[in-house]
This record gives sequence, structure tokens and C-alpha cells, in this order.
Amino acid sequence: MPETTSAPSPLRVADLLTDLYVGGKAVPAADGGRFDVVDPATGSVITTVADGTVQDAIAAVDAAEQAAAEWAATPPRQRAEILRRAFELMTAQADDLARLITLENGKALADAHGEVAYAAEFFRWYSEEAVRATGEVVTAPSGTNKILVLQQPVGICVLVTPWNFPAAMATRKIGPALAAGCTMVLKPASDTPLTALAMARILQDAGVPAGVVNVLPARRSGAVVSAMLHDPRVRKLSFTGSTEVGRILLREAADQVINCSMELGGNAPFLVFADADLDAAVDGAMVAKMRNAGEACTAANRFYVEASIADEFSRRLAERMKALRVGPGLDETNQVGPLVNDDTAAKVEELVRGAVDAGAKAVVGGRRPEREGFYYEPTVLLDVTPDSPILKEEIFGPVAPIVTFEDEAEAIRQANTTEYGLVSYVFTGDLARGLRVSEALDSGMVGLNRGLVSDPAAPFGGTKQSGVGREGGHHGMLDYLEAKYIAVQW
Ligand code: NAD
Repeated sequence: MPETTSAPSPLRVADLLTDLYVGGKAVPAADGGRFDVVDPATGSVITTVADGTVQDAIAAVDAAEQAAAEWAATPPRQRAEILRRAFELMTAQADDLARLITLENGKALADAHGEVAYAAEFFRWYSEEAVRATGEVVTAPSGTNKILVLQQPVGICVLVTPWNFPAAMATRKIGPALAAGCTMVLKPASDTPLTALAMARILQDAGVPAGVVNVLPARRSGAVVSAMLHDPRVRKLSFTGSTEVGRILLREAADQVINCSMELGGNAPFLVFADADLDAAVDGAMVAKMRNAGEACTAANRFYVEASIADEFSRRLAERMKALRVGPGLDETNQVGPLVNDDTAAKVEELVRGAVDAGAKAVVGGRRPEREGFYYEPTVLLDVTPDSPILKEEIFGPVAPIVTFEDEAEAIRQANTTEYGLVSYVFTGDLARGLRVSEALDSGMVGLNRGLVSDPAAPFGGTKQSGVGREGGHHGMLDYLEAKYIAVQW
């Protein structure tokens, strides 16, 4: 086992990589442009980062192309060992990485530590998968030939990631892409480019050759990503972000018929039946709602509670939410940090206001505290009307709207009334009911008596407008491989 902690060293902003990372080198943007990275706890500027242009994007694709043949031909065992070293380096630098995530994203330090551990696991998991990209040989039904199927790297990948898990959303793509033998350009979210650049350095130290992984922060993300998707050398897009941007990129990718994996928005229902272990349900609700202060695609967005236990569940949840300490994430005594930026906090405020105006009651929270930074108080809303926007849109903040139901059929119907289908949660003491309801829920994942589904060994992904494709598990590697069939005369 690698060391789990390094000697604690304070994070020094001056030591961070803040240029583009292309062809194994830190380079400025072609036009010299830079943009600010802001600390959400204070609203002040942490540092500036090079702002990639279309010209830089093409240079990054050039670098990925130059490295492609050699990386694809590198023995899988060697690729596996590099990934394993990346896991070990991430684990050894967990303290610094967690601080960096908190600094630019705002999340509480405990959440950032959780993210680093989760993110590093993708490197370990795919170090183990790299040697298992198996093909097949079968006899054709006619008996005249053999059907030989090879799994080959899909080619140059464009990876676009969001700000809410700046390390894990990157490793969930980089891990399988490296294991499969692909080269890539990662475009991180503009709110959190520093973590992605820190990952570039880790990968370099782990032995990833120059040009295999390129990192291109860019505020003009539309133009930069579009230029890459229209470059005929690019064969794969893996995007994690909002459904709105996902739709734009699917259209962009259509021109070159690029292979797409889309991890998009969610609107997770959290069902609590009267026969559930209520303590477990409240624990699960706290994880499903409050991990990352609610800024997760998997965040429980709508709580459906059987009417006979709704008061008791709400009371216990409100008590737990009220006890949370809110404040700067770098202070380890705080459990809830600020939201990532002012727009996000303002959107949460607007959704809560809309629900309250339509008749909902805030039993705890319900406002933005008067302090610097982009905070929102942990909130529980009761008597939320079914047509409130808060039940239809991703809240992306620490707010739990509660609605009651009378029976199983109604719970399933309400849960499925959404265009999203990422994850659902079910709490019940009856296993048969749990499995029956899980099967009926229209989502790619279900947490059954569990508030956390994310696991590098499992296929993460959604149905409906939550996306296309799966990340994690052996399934995640298939997205970076292309089957080639050879008909062999026998
Ligand atoms: P976003 O869609 O605004 O941005 C995601 C990424 O796309 C960022 O890198 C951004 O710079 C880039 N981008 C924005 N507009 C673009 C354009 N026109 N062309 C090309 N790139 C563009 O999402 P966000 O606010 O960063 O992240 C939050 C969203 O991500 C939520 O909807 C959340 O549910 C979703 N998300 C989904 C998953 C999942 O696995 N399903 C995981 C995490 C987050």
C-alpha cells in the first residue's frame, strides 16, 4: 500500500502550474491572455491562468496526434504501471490536492479529501483494467471463417469537465482513456482550472509521455471545444456538465460524427417509505443532499416521503441540517463551504423564493447569510407544490424540498416525472419492495438504502436527458475502445 499522507506542506499558489499544459510543457496562451481564478469563500482572486485560444487548441491536438501511435503501441502493462504510479502520487499528495480543490471550488475540506480519494481510485481501477481489454475469436455460423474482434484505442479524445468535482471528473475520463491507449486534450471548467493543471503535473511525474495528456484551460470554451470537434483527427468527446451544454456539443460533434459520452444533469428523487429505518434514511439523506453542499449531479433534489412518517423524517432532517457549520472550506471545523460562484448562489436563492412564494415553508435555512463569499444556508422546505421549479430543475445547493406520497405507485410516478434520469434513492425495510421500486425507476443508477452511488468500479451514468454512456467499471473503458472485426479465412 502506498503512504496515505505526505508530510503536511502548506499549499503555495506560486508553485502551481498556471499556464497551458501542451506537449509536456507549460506554455502561455497564443495571445498571452489570462483569466482570474476566484476563491469562493472570499470572492478574491487566487491567481490567473493562461486562457487557451483556438490556436492553442489545435496545437494541443497536434501534440496529442504526435504522441498517439507510440502510446497506443505501449504495452498495456507499462500503461498500467504508469496509472498505478499516478494513483500513488495522488494519494501521497492528498493533503495538498484537497486544499487546492477547496481553495478554488469552495467545498469543505472533508469533501475535498473525499474527492481526492475517489479521484485517485480511478487511476488505480484503470491500472488494473489496462491489461484486460480483451477481444474475441469465434467461428462464423457458416463455418467458413473465424470472426476475430480486436479492441483498439478510439483515438484522440477531447475531455470537457465541470467545476463541481474538478479532480474526479478528470480522472474518471483520463484513467480509462490512458488505459485504452488514447491520447487526449482536457478542457477543465474555468472556475477550477488549477486542480486539472495539478493533475497534469502528477501524470507527468508518473511517467505519462509528453503529448499524451494535454490540459487547456479556456474561458472561451465554446470556440475552443468547437474547433477541436471540427478537427478530423479528433475521434471522441467525453463531456460532463449541464444538459444544456451537452445538447450543444452533441450537435457540434455531429459534423464529424464523433463518438460521444455524455454525463449530464440530474434531478434525483429520494424516496422514503414508512417501513424504512428512519435513522438510516436521514443519514442517507444527509450524504445524498449535502456532499459538496449539494453541488453534485447525484444530489438528492426532491424528497418524496410517505405521508405517515413525513413529519418525523422532516423534523430529524431539519435538526441535522441546522447543526451543520457553514463557513470557509479551508477551516476544518466547517462542514459546508460556499457555493462555487455568485450565479450559483443566486440561482438557489431564486428557486427557494419561487417555492416559498407558491406556499412552501422553510423549516430551517431559506436564505443567503450576510457575509462575504457565496454561501447559502442548509435548508429544508415543506409543503412544496408539485409544479414548483425547485422540483424540476437542478438546485445545485444545500436545499431539501420535501413532498409527501400515499402509496408506492404514486411515489414511482412522481419520481419518474422528470426529463432527467441519472440516479434515484430508495429507503425501505422491505427488500422485495426495494428491488421492485428500483427496477421501476427510470434512472441509470439507484441507491437502495444508501445515499452514495459513486464508485470507480461501477458503471456511472444516466438515462433520458442525463446522458449517454457509462463511466467507471469495465464499462467505462469500452467508451475509449473501438471494436475492429477481422474476417479470417480458415
Ligand atoms: P457546464 O455545462 O456549464 O460546463 C461544463 C463544462 O463545459 C465546463 O468545462 C465549461 O467550461 C464547458 N462549456 C460550457 N459551455 C460550453 C460550450 N458552449 N461549448 C463547449 N464547452 C462548454 O456545467 P458546470 O456548471 O460546469 O457543471 C454543473 C453541471 O454538470 C450540472 O448540470 C451537473 O449535474 C453536471 N454534472 C454531471 C455529472 C454526471 O456525471 N452526470 C457530474 C458532475 C456534474
